[in-house]
This record gives sequence, structure tokens and C-alpha cells, in this order.
Amino acid sequence: MLTAKAYAAPSATEPLVPLTIERRDVGPKDVLIAIRYAGICHSDIHTVREEWGPITFPQVVGHEIVGEVTEVGSAVTKHAVGDRVGVGCMVNSCRECEQCRAGNEHYCLSGNTQTYASVDRDGTITQGGYSTHVVVDEDFVLTVPEALPYDAVAPLLCAGITTYSPLARWNAGPGSRVAVVGMGGLGHLGVKIAVAMGAEVTVLSRSESKKEDALAFGAARHVATGDDGALESLRGSFDLIINTVSAPLPMDAYLATLRPEGALVNVGAPPQPLPVSAFSLIIGGRSLAGSNIGSIRETQEMLDFCAEHGIAPETELISADRINDAYERVLNSDVRYRFVIDTATL
Ligand code: NAP
Ligand code: ZN
Ligand code: ZN
Repeated sequence: MLTAKAYAAPSATEPLVPLTIERRDVGPKDVLIAIRYAGICHSDIHTVREEWGPITFPQVVGHEIVGEVTEVGSAVTKHAVGDRVGVGCMVNSCRECEQCRAGNEHYCLSGNTQTYASVDRDGTITQGGYSTHVVVDEDFVLTVPEALPYDAVAPLLCAGITTYSPLARWNAGPGSRVAVVGMGGLGHLGVKIAVAMGAEVTVLSRSESKKEDALAFGAARHVATGDDGALESLRGSFDLIINTVSAPLPMDAYLATLRPEGALVNVGAPPQPLPVSAFSLIIGGRSLAGSNIGSIRETQEMLDFCAEHGIAPETELISADRINDAYERVLNSDVRYRFVIDTATL
């Protein structure tokens, strides 16, 4: 057993605190990663505060992980000691069901093993990336291109893939009109990626405060949805909407901004339901869909795409003792646009 330094939630209502945790021995197919940087995703906060349901404490979260391989198991072929690698939201799956066999391990029929707060194959609870080390099966470890900035790349492992996957699946590209709702960690990467794919991008954000950034990321337009009549003026505008908002929204008003046969893909995960009128879908034959991260193959494709197009997350690097403060700032949308923890400070 290896020990690792970490930051953990002791309960749903207390601040995160330093904790030493154990990592399993490196098995034949495992790699040991010395984590250098870990992003803070809004899902980390939903999870430790038990907004999505009960979890087991203490819990280490974090599923935007980058670091170096420091040891490999005897049967490892994909990664070598010294490689710059990443780990996202899942660390295993059944590998036998039709979804796993088709390369959709994120939709594994028995549920993929999440990087944290999930029952691992050995029965222990997985512990995430706010930590100095992690042991992961090589098949769930990504190669991080050297062209991407080491201290800023981590958020691609969740926020990047979660926006890339639906943009690719719904064919964002030249000629398509894409709206990104909410410009936070996910949203700002959704904008950059959709622009790089060639789409005409509109940012739908609550106020004017992020307008300059939206345009700098390549968006054609920014609309402050808090303004009276803002959504009404956009009726029938978009082929595809990616909703990244962490709180419930008036879905009917957003669906009305779709063109006929357009799709609103929800990736934001508020604990509350999102009520929808049947007529919002019937009129114009519109679709409402969801999307969960992306497959390992697609995550590697996204990392390579970002390296090729020079896309990197906008980040604020913090020391571990600022994690609790960072959580409050995420909840107040007071970050441009993702916190990354320097794990040397754990
Ligand atoms: P985030 O950085 O907090 O960004 C969310 C953005 O939503 C904010 O920046 C804000 O944008 C907008 N927003 C926040 N509260 C709002 C409210 N009450 N009303 C309207 N807009 C509001 O969060 P994130 O890390 O990007 O994650 C976003 C959501 O996606 C979370 O629920 C997270 O759990 C979920 N998620 C899902 C997946 C998946 O696989 N489906 C993966 C990762 C995360 P503006 O200031 O521009 O309005
Ligand atoms: Zn996440
Ligand atoms: Zn499976």
C-alpha cells in the first residue's frame, strides 16, 4: 500500500481538510501517477455536499487530474515512466457489456467506476484527484500532449470532454449555430471548442460581465439572459444549445430559441428536476437530450484536438489551503474560469 497526501471532505457540512490516504499496490495493468495539478469541477461541490445523494466520508474529490507516470505494472503497454498523463471522471468499467465493447465505457450498462465516490472493483470507495498520487488501470489513463500548458490543462479532463462530446455528436461545425448557456468551467471550454469546430457561437450568460471574454474566446455574439425580453428576441435562432448551468433554468424559454428540429443538450446537473412543456418539443420537432462526459477514445481525441487548435482552459492556480475559499467562489461564479490546485502544496 502506498500513502498519498490529500484534501478530503469529512462530512457534507464541514470544510475540506488535509488527510493521508492509501492507494492500492500497482497491479500488472496499473500505472502510478504523481499528480501535479487537479481542477475543481462544480460536480466536486455537488458531490461532497451530498446534493446528488448520500456518499461515504471522508471523501477526496477531483476528476480533472494531470501528472507524470512514476511506476508501471508488468503488463502495461500504453504508458511509460515519465509520460505526462491525465485521468478524468472514470477509472474503470465492466468491459464486457455491449456499451463497453462498443467503446462507450462512459455508458457502461452496469455503471462505470467513477474517479471518486464510487465503489471500486475491489470494494473500496474511489478517492479522487485532490491528492499527490493515484493508481489507475492504464486503459483509463490519457496521454496529455506536451503542447498543452501543464499547469492549465487539467480542466480538459472533465469540462473539456463534457462539452466536446455533445458538440461532436450533434455535428457542430461550419454553418451550424450553437448556443452555450452558462459560461463557467464547462461553458468557456464549450465556446472555445465550438468555435474551433467552425460553428457560429452565441454565449447565453446571465449578465454582461463575461461579454468581453466571450468575444475574445471567438463567440460571434453574447446575450445577457437577465435582460428583459432577451430570450424572446432569440426565438428560432439555434441548431444546437449546450446547457452547462448548475441550477434549474426555465427550459421552455430556452427550447423556444431552437430552430425547427434543433436540439438542446443538457450537461448541467442540478439536483432539482427540469420541467418541460410537451409543446416546447412538439412545436418544431425539437429534441431535449443529455450527455455524460465522453468515452476514453473521445477524450484522447479531444486532448489532441485542443493541442492542434491551441485551446487551453483559462485557470487560476491555487494552493490546497485555498480549496474551501475556491468552492465559495465557484458557487458565486467568481472564477475566470476554472480553479486548478497545485498538488505540491498538499
Ligand atoms: P460552474 O463553473 O459553476 O459554471 C456554471 C455556470 O452556470 C456559471 O458560471 C454561470 O454562468 C451559470 N449559472 C450558475 N448558477 C446559475 C443560476 N442560478 N442561474 C443561471 N445560470 C447560472 O460549473 P461547471 O463546473 O462548469 O459545471 C456546470 C454543471 O455541469 C454542474 O452542474 C456540473 O455538475 C455539471 N457537469 C456535468 C457533467 C456531465 O457529464 N454531464 C460533467 C461535468 C460537470 P453565467 O455567469 O455565464 O451565467
Ligand atoms: Zn467534472
Ligand atoms: Zn460495461
